[in-house]
Amino acid sequence: MDLTLTEFVRDVLLGSFVLVPLLAVISRTLHARVEKRALANRVICRLCLHAFEDSSHVQAVICPICGAANEKGRSRRLG
Ligand SMILES: [Zn+2]
Repeated sequence: MDLTLTEFVRDVLLGSFVLVPLLAVISRTLHARVEKRALANRVICRLCLHAFEDSSHVQAVICPICGAANEKGRSRRLG
C-alpha cells in the first residue's frame, strides 16, 4: 500500500513537472495571439486614456467609460 501511494505521489509530481511548463507555454502562446489581435482594434480614449477594443469599422467610437468620441487611427491628433 505504502509503495503504491509513493509511486502515485511520485507520478503526480513528475506529471506536474512536465505539465506545468507545458501549460504555461500553451497559455502564453494563446494569450500572445489574443493580445496581438486585440492590439489591432485597440482604441485609447483621448479624454480618460481608457484602452478598449472596437472591432467595428465606424469612424468614431464612443468611450465606454466617459462617453467621449474617439476617432480611429488618429490617437495622436491634438485638439
Ligand atoms: Zn474615455
